[in-house]
Amino acid sequence: MKTEIIRVYGIVQGVGFRPFVSREADRLSLAGTVSNKGSYVEIHAQGDEKAVDGLLKALKGNAPERSEVLDVISAHADEPPYAGFEIIESEKEQGDIFVSPDIGICDKCKAELFDSSDRRYLHPFINCTQCGPRLTILDSMPYDRVRTSMNEFPMCESCAKEYENPETRRYDAQPVCCNDCGPEVYLIGTDIKGKAAITAARKAIKEGKIIAVKGIGGFHLCCSASDEQAVKRLRKLKNRPMKPFAVMLKDMETAKRECAISPEQETLLCGWQKPIVLLKKKKGGKLCESVAPDNPNVGVMLPYAPVQLLLFNYDDGIKTPDCLVMTSGNASGAPICRSDEDAVKEISHFCDLMLSHNRKIRLRADDTVTDFWGGRPYMIRRSRGFAPLPIMLSENFGGQVLAIGGELKNSFCIGKKNLFYPSPYVGDMADIRTVNALKESVGRMCELLEAAPAAVACDLHPKYNTVTAAEEMGLPVIKVQHHFAHILSCIAENDYSGKVIGVSFDGTGYGEDGTIWGGELLLCDYSGYERLGSIRPFIQAGGDLSAKEGWRIAASIIGEIFGEQGGDICEKLSVCDKKNFKVLSAMTDRRINSVISTSAGRLFDGVSAILGIRKASTFEGEASMTLQFEAQKYSEEPFADYEPMEKLTAQKETGVTLCTHALVKRLCENRLSGRDTPQLAYEFHALLSDMITAACDKIRSDSGVSVCALSGGVFQNKLLLKMTVARLEKQGFKVLTHSLIPPNDGGIALGQAVYAAKILERNN
Ligand code: ZN
Ligand code: ZN
Ligand code: FE
Repeated sequence: MKTEIIRVYGIVQGVGFRPFVSREADRLSLAGTVSNKGSYVEIHAQGDEKAVDGLLKALKGNAPERSEVLDVISAHADEPPYAGFEIIESEKEQGDIFVSPDIGICDKCKAELFDSSDRRYLHPFINCTQCGPRLTILDSMPYDRVRTSMNEFPMCESCAKEYENPETRRYDAQPVCCNDCGPEVYLIGTDIKGKAAITAARKAIKEGKIIAVKGIGGFHLCCSASDEQAVKRLRKLKNRPMKPFAVMLKDMETAKRECAISPEQETLLCGWQKPIVLLKKKKGGKLCESVAPDNPNVGVMLPYAPVQLLLFNYDDGIKTPDCLVMTSGNASGAPICRSDEDAVKEISHFCDLMLSHNRKIRLRADDTVTDFWGGRPYMIRRSRGFAPLPIMLSENFGGQVLAIGGELKNSFCIGKKNLFYPSPYVGDMADIRTVNALKESVGRMCELLEAAPAAVACDLHPKYNTVTAAEEMGLPVIKVQHHFAHILSCIAENDYSGKVIGVSFDGTGYGEDGTIWGGELLLCDYSGYERLGSIRPFIQAGGDLSAKEGWRIAASIIGEIFGEQGGDICEKLSVCDKKNFKVLSAMTDRRINSVISTSAGRLFDGVSAILGIRKASTFEGEASMTLQFEAQKYSEEPFADYEPMEKLTAQKETGVTLCTHALVKRLCENRLSGRDTPQLAYEFHALLSDMITAACDKIRSDSGVSVCALSGGVFQNKLLLKMTVARLEKQGFKVLTHSLIPPNDGGIALGQAVYAAKILERNN
């Protein structure tokens, strides 16, 4: 007979870990206890040696599917005999904290949901130890019902029995509930609730109306995705002419009817995180054109909350569409609504009916959006299902930091020792409501993770709202250059600790010299960077307008290349008329409302205008995205036919400049001579990646560094990514790319955080 105290670290709370331990202990006839300690699960196991070993083996080998055991530490103890094995109340201890993300409904619960003999038949809140909300209902750790928003709903006798019986799937499942004791759905502003509310919502969808529906991490706006009029009306109400909407499809079969799906994409789509996955549309599907206009792809997710399944299937005899638009329920620029008050104020005028419920959402979580590349997810927006799983570095900087993140697509990050916890998506900081949401979420996450940051990291930009928010925190502020933060996020995600050549291609970011950067080559590691190259600087005329109106960039670069002839060329290319060209030139000559820029994102916008693809964008990235789609019409191969360029880079005092003006000049001439647009779009991508590769080669020969890291929003462009990786690898480079951290500004908080942690370490 021996007693062993075993500590299990990792995602071991809210995933059925204690019940699993208790069942294993019964199987092995062990006595003792198991409890949550906040940062780990502690087991006192008493029995014969073989049984204790059996338990240790099971912990490593058979742990519940949703858990992630990172470490098991055991030590021998002398303890008086236990009478049996029991789960004891949680006590808080100091240490690393792992909070489970929200988990999409599991197959067993789904089967019960539609089993008319089950007592949870059609219960909109069905869940178990393996599924249901977690992060979004949590007040504090350790994860127990009293510290969640389910605390308001006392369990009925039957639920309590299941909760207490280790033989059931709901043993110790914190959000457990049923039709008798659980939360309730209702239509906001009416006294319609329960079944009648769901039927009303389904009827509205069928009739082509728009509804708001509260899910796990916030509200969605929803309508039939096969009804052109409904979708167009939603676009009009939301003032969103072109930006693609995500869709929720009834099941895998429907998804396969609408989209081309590889086996890996299928796994990702069905996985418990239930992200939105970008997929190629098939011809002849039921999705209407307005869902994702002029776009070969569409963002698809499967239902993950029971209430969403009920929108597709119910016992009211109504047949609803199998494709629904499911877009975040927010006013443009504002964060996703999580309460009825928010929803009434912000989105009631976008919809005909609002289906809500009384289980409170503590922390917002938008849907995660991911693309797929190189056999792995390629994250666009990391949120529900992923946040706040930490990134773990091998190197331990020791301190605690908060990184406030970027101004666009904001998410923040908390660092504790070698663990970095990226937050759910927050949004764009131009809107004061989002800034407030950021401050609130920072407070909540710090509380959950018991973080006491010693410093706060933010961007360099003097006018960013995130910077002001960081400065108001009363902590030492560490400013991190935007493109450096992008590269750091990429090396941190890859847990790489040496020097890299960072290719940071992006929209815009504030440079150390006060100009706008965005097409940068940085030689860097965790402690700092040198800017050794960039695309050729150009004058970005028109201030903020130039981010939306790519023709301004086009006209400005054409003016720099062709001088006075520029007006003629702009007119022939339909970039703008001579008069507009003159006005723009006068402005740039006198530097009115004009800045020097090396933004690769803006270069893409400009080229899109020159090739007659998009002169302006109605949402961020539209012009460059359509330029990519155009190129893919020619070829998706990294090395299809194109005419190479002799001179790719030019030497400057320190480092290199990419000959992007020469490239634009060639594109203009070829376009004027009537060459095919898709081919020219392809050539632009190919030659730009040739230039990047040549510049990296140059930097390698001076520095000896042969590892490249690709980051920045421009690398959401998978054609450019594919081409650049292929060329760099051909030249013998090792290439680091993103997977679970977005290449766009949603990822930079991680980079800011590791840099701040490194600075703290150095100063201590
Ligand atoms: Zn379940
Ligand atoms: Zn119940
Ligand atoms: Fe950026």
